[in-house]
Amino acid sequence: MPELPEVEVSRLGIIPYVEGQTVTDITIRQPKLRWPIPDTLQQLKGQVIRRVTRRAKYLLLETDVGTAIVHLGMSGSLRVLPLSQPPEKHDHVDVILSNGRLIRYHDPRRFGAWLWQEGETPHAVLGKLGPEPLTDAFDPEYLLAKAKGKKMVMKSFIMDNAVVVGVGNIYANESLFCAGIHPKRPAGSLSLAEATRLVDEIKTVLAAAITQGGTTLKDFTQVDGKAGYFAQELRVYGKSGQPCPVCGSALERIIIGQRATVFCPQCQPL
Ligand SMILES: [Zn+2]
Repeated sequence: MPELPEVEVSRLGIIPYVEGQTVTDITIRQPKLRWPIPDTLQQLKGQVIRRVTRRAKYLLLETDVGTAIVHLGMSGSLRVLPLSQPPEKHDHVDVILSNGRLIRYHDPRRFGAWLWQEGETPHAVLGKLGPEPLTDAFDPEYLLAKAKGKKMVMKSFIMDNAVVVGVGNIYANESLFCAGIHPKRPAGSLSLAEATRLVDEIKTVLAAAITQGGTTLKDFTQVDGKAGYFAQELRVYGKSGQPCPVCGSALERIIIGQRATVFCPQCQPL
């Protein structure tokens, strides 16, 4: 599943071909995604894509009249291809650009989304989101204030989009391990020192993934290949039963919020 780093790398990958281009047409082959693609998306036609930005895991194609909102869901990806490139199975949306290229959206599981935001007022899906993890707004004092008095377990807490966006399952596992915090600790038990370390680790693990993705991904204009996903070096995620990379104890696996959770019982005491 594309996580925040994949979405950010996708953004950086398509920007050079997309920003400043006029949308000459939109082809929708399959409108039934997570939500039906609204007819209002056609308003993108004739508009210049001024900027490609990101909020949480949503990519935003900003124009003077509104913004196309793209979510990659479970299996979505974007590529920039020549107009002559024939569509293949699961290529559901093409945004055709004035430079003779198109943005092609591929999504076998169809759990992604294409939405339209009129004007400047944020679309409902962007309404109740916490700060971006890689901005200064996400700092230890903020996290500590949010955690105060909460019984919610730490892993669910940092994966809550209202607390901070973009900390998916992989990054929650990795950052809690690196910060030495048990995933089942109540959020309210967090100290300022721990919040400081955790904020630092979340930023580090996400930034490292974006850097790694940017260097290992194939070009977003390649016709073949799975643009948008990349392998990462992980310390604990997917490694239950293996020795902890710090102390050598066997890593344990539990389920929190229906998601696999791997931790070191020595380095992350409850
Ligand atoms: Zn350990």
